[in-house]
Order: sequence, then structure tokens, then C-alpha cells
Amino acid sequence: MPELPEVETTLQAIKLFENETLSSIKIHNPNLRWPIDININKKISNKKIHKIFRRAKYLIFDLSNYYLIIHLGMSGTLRIMNTADNYFKKHDHVELIFKSKKLIYNDPRRFGSIHITKSYQDHSLISNLGPEPLSDEFCGEYLHNVVINSKTNIKNFIMNQKNVVGIGNIYASEILFKSSINPTRIANSISRVECNLITKFSKNILKKAIKVGGTTIRDFFSAEGSKGYFKIQLNVYDREDKKCSKCQNTIKKITQNQRATYFCETCQN
Ligand SMILES: [Zn+2]
Repeated sequence: MPELPEVETTLQAIKLFENETLSSIKIHNPNLRWPIDININKKISNKKIHKIFRRAKYLIFDLSNYYLIIHLGMSGTLRIMNTADNYFKKHDHVELIFKSKKLIYNDPRRFGSIHITKSYQDHSLISNLGPEPLSDEFCGEYLHNVVINSKTNIKNFIMNQKNVVGIGNIYASEILFKSSINPTRIANSISRVECNLITKFSKNILKKAIKVGGTTIRDFFSAEGSKGYFKIQLNVYDREDKKCSKCQNTIKKITQNQRATYFCETCQN
């Protein structure tokens, strides 16, 4: 699944469409997770894109009277091609066509979605989201104020988009390892100092992944599209029975909320 760093890198790559006029939208298959509005072309073709930005894992295009929201779901990618190119790939569902280039939405599993809305802040997918992990709002004080009311485990807590957006399964394990916090701990037992660690390492790890992703931007300009996960160095994730980099004990794998969690019992209390 594309995580926040992958979406941020996609954003950087597609920003070249800012201030361009969207000529039209070609829909080959409207049946994504939710069907695409059949009037989409009428609503936004021939409109200028003022800005493209990200909220959580949503890419948002600001057109004059509408916002176009794209979510990549489990397997969605965007790639940039020349408008004149006649090359297609299987699962190319939507094309946003501009004067000289086009942006193609490809999604084999079709869990992604494309929406049109007048106000993105009020859109049902966005209105209840928590703060951005890289924003100043996501600080130890904020986190401590929300964990004290929660009885779920801390790993599940930081993966809940209402508490903070953009922390997926891989990053959650890595953040808690760096913070020396056992992922099975109940959220309301996490101290203010530990909240500082979680927010600090969330930012560090996501920034590192975005930096690695920056080097893949050129892939967006080829027919290959992006190439899956960014290879940040993983300390615990997918390292069951391997040695902990800090203490040499064995990394343990457990299941929490139907998702795999990896941690070191010695280093994480
Ligand atoms: Zn260890």
C-alpha cells in the first residue's frame, strides 16, 4: 500500500501540473472503490489547477470551483506521459489530459478512489482526520492529551487516522522501536516523555523515507511508474527471529488488530 512518503513523493512529481489547464478527463473504468462522478468532465474540464497538495494520503487538486481528490488505495499509482503517447498498461483507469502531458491513474486492485467536491475540508473522507505527522501540531503535548483517553494498544493508536494521519503498519513498528516502547502497551500508560519520543521519531522516520523517495521521482516520467516501497533501513519490521540491532536479542513477531507487529522485548518496555 502506498504510505505517506510514497504519496508525498507522488505529490512532488505531479506538482508540475500546477497552473496548467486540465483539458479533459478520460475514464476507462469508473468503478473504483466508489464510482467516479459521471459528471466529472462537465465539472472540471478546461479549468486551471491552482495548486496540488496533500492531506493524509489524499492528493488534492484545487481547481476554480472544485477540488479533485485522489486516493491511491492499496495498489494505485500515478504516472506522467506525453499527451500524444499511445501506450497503455493494463489497469489504466483514468487519464487527466493536459496540453502536452497527461497524468494516468493505474490501479490493479481498484481500492483507490477519485472524488469531486466543493469543499475538501468538509468531505467525509477528510473531515475527521487527525493532524499531519510532520506538522508542529503533532507534538508530545498533543499526543499526551489524546492517549490519556484511550484504552487501545499504542501501536493501534498511532495507526488510527483520527489520532494522527499517515503512520502505516511498517512505520508504526519502526517508530515504537526507536522510541523503546513496547507496542502492546495501553495508550493511556504512555508518559509525556514517551509521547515526545513518539512524535520525534515519527517525524524522523517519515522524513527519511520521503528523502529516499525523492530519488525515485524520475520513475514517474517513464512508463514504469513508481517502484513500490522506499528502502529505508528497517530495524524490526519483517525481521522476525533476526538479531536486534541494539541488544542482539531476537526480534519477535506478534499479531495486533489483524496486523503483524515486530519488536524487541528487551529494548522496548
Ligand atoms: Zn533489542
